[in-house]
Amino acid sequence: MVAVEPEFCHQCGAELTERLVHGRKRPYCPACERPFFRNAVPSAGVFVRDGDAVLLMQQADRDSEWATGGEWTLPGGHPEYDESPREGAVRELEEETGLRADPDDLTLLSAPHSTHRGYHYYMLTYLLGYDDARGELEPGEEASDLRFWTPEEMDADTENTREIDRRRLSLAFDD
Ligand SMILES: [Zn+2]
Repeated sequence: MVAVEPEFCHQCGAELTERLVHGRKRPYCPACERPFFRNAVPSAGVFVRDGDAVLLMQQADRDSEWATGGEWTLPGGHPEYDESPREGAVRELEEETGLRADPDDLTLLSAPHSTHRGYHYYMLTYLLGYDDARGELEPGEEASDLRFWTPEEMDADTENTREIDRRRLSLAFDD
């Protein structure tokens, strides 16, 4: 399984051809006689909610997969192959914000398929009450700042919060 369209076989290095497999044309290695299935990659983000605001991190001064430097984004990232999405979400949350949480305290809000900058994802989005988080807020390596934002504050600064999906944000306040 691969996340991007491959040109060469990662087993033997041969140039790939195409073949119809399970109803779709797929990259195919004639030497290994195997097709390559392309899949979306899971990502996991957490809205940490404190009353009428959620925690965002400011992207450190370099461009990332998610945002250009200076933009505000949701803490999160990609679960490792041996982690559940929840475990990956709390690990990323701690790396980026210093907050620790129990994976079982996360509530899944949505998991849409999304195309972002040419890649395909399942965007697992979780909610965590700030009361359920432990530790002090401390920006990690990938964050230059952390703060709680209300949706109104985000609407007043759409330039720097454009990576925050407003539909998923509304789910964080849907109670
Ligand atoms: Zn091969």
